[in-house]
Amino acid sequence: MSSVLNCIFARMKLENVKALKKLLSAPQKIVIIPHKNPDGDAMGSTLGLNKYLTLLGHQSLVITPNDYPDFLKWMPGTSAAINFEKQNNEAVKAIKEATVIFTLDFNDLRRIGQMHELVVGTQASFVMVDHHQSPHDYASITYSDVTMSSTCEMVYNLIDSMGDTDKITSDIANCLYAGIVTDTGSFKYASTTGKTHRVVANLIDKGAKNTEIHNKIFDTNTPDRLHLLGCALKNMVILKDYNTAYITLSQKELDDHNFKKGDTEGFVNYGLTLAGIRFAVIFIENKEEGIIKISFRSEGDFSVNEFARDHFDGGGHTNAAGGKSDRSLKETTEYFVSLLETYQDQLLA
Ligand code: 5GP
Ligand code: MN
Repeated sequence: MSSVLNCIFARMKLENVKALKKLLSAPQKIVIIPHKNPDGDAMGSTLGLNKYLTLLGHQSLVITPNDYPDFLKWMPGTSAAINFEKQNNEAVKAIKEATVIFTLDFNDLRRIGQMHELVVGTQASFVMVDHHQSPHDYASITYSDVTMSSTCEMVYNLIDSMGDTDKITSDIANCLYAGIVTDTGSFKYASTTGKTHRVVANLIDKGAKNTEIHNKIFDTNTPDRLHLLGCALKNMVILKDYNTAYITLSQKELDDHNFKKGDTEGFVNYGLTLAGIRFAVIFIENKEEGIIKISFRSEGDFSVNEFARDHFDGGGHTNAAGGKSDRSLKETTEYFVSLLETYQDQLLA
């Protein structure tokens, strides 16, 4: 069993570990929340932490702001997770009764949409675990580290800091592995460190079924999704003067391919596979919400986090960020292209 001072993985500050141990020393009613449109890391970290906190004897529950892709629904614990949009009464009751609220994989309460107001109104103690830039100051315990590959790696560190790696079951290991593999692009992004690999090695030793997880997440294509990818790639615009490539998908194109949540996952990355391209973007029309949802990716020093924050009401990491626009699809891309001139030196450097 590892101690807080000498364990290899502990990245939580000692004062945070102490505070967390104190908070969890009595049974709590816990609600764990990922960001809206939860991805593999958001679901893996919340479900993994939920299993751990339940093992400690707490009453713990995951509440997602909305639905998430089918390719994540094999994860242990998904059937007990509550969807705030679909199971609203149950969710509202649990949030109102919560004594502790964990917020995972985001650091700004605006990222949970409709749940925001309700959550802010509770008396619960907040714990944040997150790896995005510019954390807001709303939690009594903030474990924020932008050098981390994923929130799942941080949940591993949290469990390790508590001296509890022996409590990691195969269910917890499967959840955490899934989040790490998705947020690191299968261990290839710059955020993947030696520590990430050591955590992953331990998770496999504890029962994470790595090959099965890869198959369940990445090999679940449908003909509709592949045809939608074809459409997206056809729509790609390459701006050599700015080392930039962007893709658009209109609501009609999504409808024509029976779009389901998660179908566009990973499309934005194709732009970066072009030699020389440093900045890749996808603009996806969402008529129901009246917005264009945008994903930004970059290679090297160009910060898409800052770009998204400055121009598209978003944020994220240096090389992967998201944002949105209230303009039409056409106006949004025109506005986007008009911004590039200012960044030409950085994009061509
Ligand atoms: P994706 O493009 O895959 O949706 O998200 C890329 C990264 O940016 C993720 O870490 C995600 O949490 C973050 N992100 C996506 N959309 C938004 C947004 O609207 N606001 C902020 N602050 N972050 C976002
Ligand atoms: Mn993440």
